[in-house]
Amino acid sequence: MKRSSMAALAGAALGGYAATRIYRRAKLQQIPPGAHVVILGAGFGGLAAAKRLARLTGGRARITLVDRNNYHLFTPMLYQVASCSIVPYDVAVQLRPLLSPRGVHFRKAAVTGIDFDRRQVETDTGAVGYDYLVIALGSTTNYFGNSSAERHAMPVKSLEDGLAIRNHVIDVLEEASQCTDSDERRALLTFVIVGGGATGVETAGAMSEVVRHVMAKDYPNLRNSECRVIVVEAGPKLLGHMGQSMAKLALEQLQHAGVEVWLNTKANEVGLDCVKTEDGKSPPARTVVWTTGVRAPDVVSRLSLAHGHGGSIEVNDCLQVPGHTNVFAIGDNAHAAVKDVPLLAAAAMQEGVAAADSIVRLLRRQAPVRFRYKNLGTAVSVGHGQGVAEVGGRVIGGLAGWLTWRLVHLARIATFRNKAETLLDWTTAFVYDVETARLDVDAKRRAA
Ligand SMILES: Cc1cc2nc3c(=O)[nH]c(=O)nc-3n(C[C@H](O)[C@H](O)[C@H](O)COP(=O)(O)OP(=O)(O)OC[C@H]3O[C@@H](n4cnc5c(N)ncnc54)[C@H](O)[C@@H]3O)c2cc1C
Repeated sequence: MKRSSMAALAGAALGGYAATRIYRRAKLQQIPPGAHVVILGAGFGGLAAAKRLARLTGGRARITLVDRNNYHLFTPMLYQVASCSIVPYDVAVQLRPLLSPRGVHFRKAAVTGIDFDRRQVETDTGAVGYDYLVIALGSTTNYFGNSSAERHAMPVKSLEDGLAIRNHVIDVLEEASQCTDSDERRALLTFVIVGGGATGVETAGAMSEVVRHVMAKDYPNLRNSECRVIVVEAGPKLLGHMGQSMAKLALEQLQHAGVEVWLNTKANEVGLDCVKTEDGKSPPARTVVWTTGVRAPDVVSRLSLAHGHGGSIEVNDCLQVPGHTNVFAIGDNAHAAVKDVPLLAAAAMQEGVAAADSIVRLLRRQAPVRFRYKNLGTAVSVGHGQGVAEVGGRVIGGLAGWLTWRLVHLARIATFRNKAETLLDWTTAFVYDVETARLDVDAKRRAA
């Protein structure tokens, strides 16, 4: 390229950059300074909203993010903590280093209520006033009124849940290795996963991997034939709202991995060492993991607003709470007028961005934006080197599905450091065919 054309190109690029800066500054000037935007919940939706708002307001609005934890939990990989595949730090991203450089104020507090009339959020560390509010408090395990499951089954929702399952699995394997009673050993080595949605399938795949690979290596006196992993699903297929072909592939992969899948079977009662199903089966099992679905946390479902499915909040197609134009509900908290928005991390993130855009537009005295969900595909991991994914209408299975799952999730992890640590753990596990996180450490138990 001639020197004169290169100079012209550089000039055009510089001109374009300067014009963008001037345009951006003019846009920022339209935002009156000082408004306080409060975001409740630093999950997928809340974090996306905070990052977008910080970028679009350039310090002209005060942004406060409130969460009861000082970390963002990457729930899609929680089952890997439960199955000892990765260490807990891989799925927990520290919030302060992520937010402070962006000028977002973080407040570690548990939200206990919202007073819409006084425009303030009540927390266990005091009240926080707001001009604009984003409710993104996620969901909690839904036991559908089954009190025996609530007492005895283990949920997979928080980091504590993941660690509790991990410690329990290590404990039952240790106990089984010393147990001489064959019935008792069978109960210790039976793992029942209630719910055949994405979380149930992933947990079952990972459990089967642990018991078959780890047991054979670390506990040579335990026999694989004594061990059972069972998925109990009330519906006629796996993977809930996902397509038939994905469900079929997932079923084949689980069965190939030795998992028993009981479709059209409802778990009725969970005891300390047994699960009873509606059709009369009762496998003795010391481990029952409950993954049947989610509902809004009490602090959300108790708000005096119109509620939709599972206590979520009814919103209009701009994600605003009817009657409160300055309040938005997103992610698992939003029961959208727009249909077919699944309770997924990708949807929560898109909604967080849309809510932030609308708040900035309201600050500039413009109309909010309508939310449109873009389905970018889904992926489910089904144990070691196996998975199913649906991208652009195409269903991929086996190793390709598993690799797609890993790529998608690696891309979504919030910081480079967490991405690198996860990748390292995965590589170690894959290359050496061993898991990296099987230390039997439980701070609470040791202290007791
Ligand atoms: C085990 C599991 C696996 C999943 N796998 C996938 C997957 O593979 N792909 C996918 O797309 N989706 C997956 N999901 C769903 C996905 O995690 C949710 O749809 C998504 O997290 C919803 O985002 P959110 O922002 O609404 O809520 P969340 O991400 O759950 O965030 C809610 C935040 O609110 C905070 N909070 C809650 N109550 C309070 C309170 N009272 N005070 C202060 N803070 C509070 C929580 O600490 C949390 O940080 C999975 C979910 C689970 C449980």
